[in-house]
Amino acid sequence: MNFKNIGLLLLALTLPFLAAKSQVKISYEVSFKQPQTHYADVEMNLSGLSKPYIDVKMPVWTPGSYLIREFSKNVEGFTASAGASALKVEKVKKNTWRVYSNSAKSVKINYSVYAFEVSIRTPFVDASHAFLSSTGIFMYPDQHLAASSIVKIVPFTGWNKVSTGLEPVAGQPFTFTAKNFDILYDSPLEVGNQEVFEFMAAGVKHTVAMYGGGKYNPERLKKDMPKIVEEATAVYGENPNQHYTFIVHNLSRGSGGLEHLNSTVLGVGRDSYATEEGYHSFLGLVAHEYHHLWNVKRLRPVALGPFDYENENYTTNLWVAEGFTSYYENKLMLRAGYLSPDDFAAELIGKVANIINTPGAKIESAAASSFDAWIKYYRPNENSNNSTVSYYSKGEVIGLLLDLEIIQASKATKSLDDVMKAMYLQCKASGKGYTDAEFKAMAEKVSGTSMNDFWDKYVNGVYPIEYAKYFGYAGIKVQNEYEGTNLPYLGIAARGTNGHLIIGAVSRDSGAWKDGLNVGDEINSVDGAEAEPSIAGMSVLQQKKVGDVVTFKVKRDLLDREIKVTLTANPNVRLVPSMAEGITADQRNVLKKWMGLK
Ligand SMILES: [Zn+2]
Repeated sequence: MNFKNIGLLLLALTLPFLAAKSQVKISYEVSFKQPQTHYADVEMNLSGLSKPYIDVKMPVWTPGSYLIREFSKNVEGFTASAGASALKVEKVKKNTWRVYSNSAKSVKINYSVYAFEVSIRTPFVDASHAFLSSTGIFMYPDQHLAASSIVKIVPFTGWNKVSTGLEPVAGQPFTFTAKNFDILYDSPLEVGNQEVFEFMAAGVKHTVAMYGGGKYNPERLKKDMPKIVEEATAVYGENPNQHYTFIVHNLSRGSGGLEHLNSTVLGVGRDSYATEEGYHSFLGLVAHEYHHLWNVKRLRPVALGPFDYENENYTTNLWVAEGFTSYYENKLMLRAGYLSPDDFAAELIGKVANIINTPGAKIESAAASSFDAWIKYYRPNENSNNSTVSYYSKGEVIGLLLDLEIIQASKATKSLDDVMKAMYLQCKASGKGYTDAEFKAMAEKVSGTSMNDFWDKYVNGVYPIEYAKYFGYAGIKVQNEYEGTNLPYLGIAARGTNGHLIIGAVSRDSGAWKDGLNVGDEINSVDGAEAEPSIAGMSVLQQKKVGDVVTFKVKRDLLDREIKVTLTANPNVRLVPSMAEGITADQRNVLKKWMGLK
């Protein structure tokens, strides 16, 4: 890749490998004999070999998406040869093939990958296009993650474009280089007939590759996307890329985004461009993924790069990597003019209420949620809301609180922006990711105040969010509308499916939880009234008060049961903001600094 002005950073990032710089030369050719059957055909050539055998491995996960996905499960027909001779191959691990090279210097490997999972993080091939999510396509020779490689794509007949963040090889069509595997695995490729347009922003060429149609307006996007790029760059003071590629999959339903070093993949509902609300949510997704090119790709937790592609990579800091990025998504939308100050505040107040109303937020800390992403966030079950908190949601709220804490402590001279920029520059200078202690120390340095209490409460603890205090710094009064109302609470979510009302969730410590309604129960009647499609809308429940007993007749495992539930008081909040009367000059300064108002 041609990252001229961050050459030093990348060099530093790969230092652990440089000591054992690889002599092995690696090239790939990816073709599609029958794309309608969803296979990518990979030829991998290795030369400069010297050992009796070489182990060739498929990653088990893809950075940015913290789940073991076992990409080798889609591999078929692995063969190896040296010249005209077939070589012995032995499968020695779930993702490892041992090729007995018989002292041959060069080896050719062939395999096919079945690719039919629609997502932003898995490869997909059909008659219309190929999306090559690199960790699911390219194998690597063991011990040679530092090696550079050449990737040649042979598009299927009629396909004429390849869009990727990889650096093209001059004079060779559809051929690219990757300096090492961290770069190859961070550079997906879109192959087909996507619509491509470009814009310049922050001195960087941006390419947008649109697959799947949709009523987007390239001219409008070329005006709006640069504003987000400029605002994100302004936070960090520099944009480290020479070029950046947005690969956009416009499908029937959106699926979010996945960040990469100098590209991103966005899964967008193709109808979303048709409404202002949908269009703004697209711009919000752009802001989120673009901000990641700093936060997590370069300003990164120490465990997240260089990567171990065979095992879980544990970090307690996804609340920074993802949560702060969600917070900055809103900040960038505000600064670019796509979110009003009122809507910005309302959005964040809603996020605070959401955390308070999540029972699992009283059980799991943001740090623990980050660490266990592999087994919890990415593997939710019916009890997740009771036992876990999302590091996105809690992290976004921590970002908000920390921002206000820093602005307040520094008398509106500093903000979270200063911490993010300083941490980015620190990671760039050291070539390493940050530890939690380093991040905390920078927050203390910038704010001039101890963060022990803040970290204990909000990062490592489950302390109730002091929303009145924090919004009060900015002169915003936030009140709980439910306070003192003593509303009755049942504590289930149920949905009507084909005329059956099925319980989908039971909330911790509610009457339903204590008295034993279960997820999966089919509700037949409530106090003798036949169940309706919406449990909340049932008039029989509207009359109740706290302490009342409600009789449920349910079907569980095909048997009828009667369960009496005592209604408890609603534990949830509904937060409403208003401007405090008699706002002080200090509060006004905090508000202005927070919102970036003049
Ligand atoms: Zn993200």
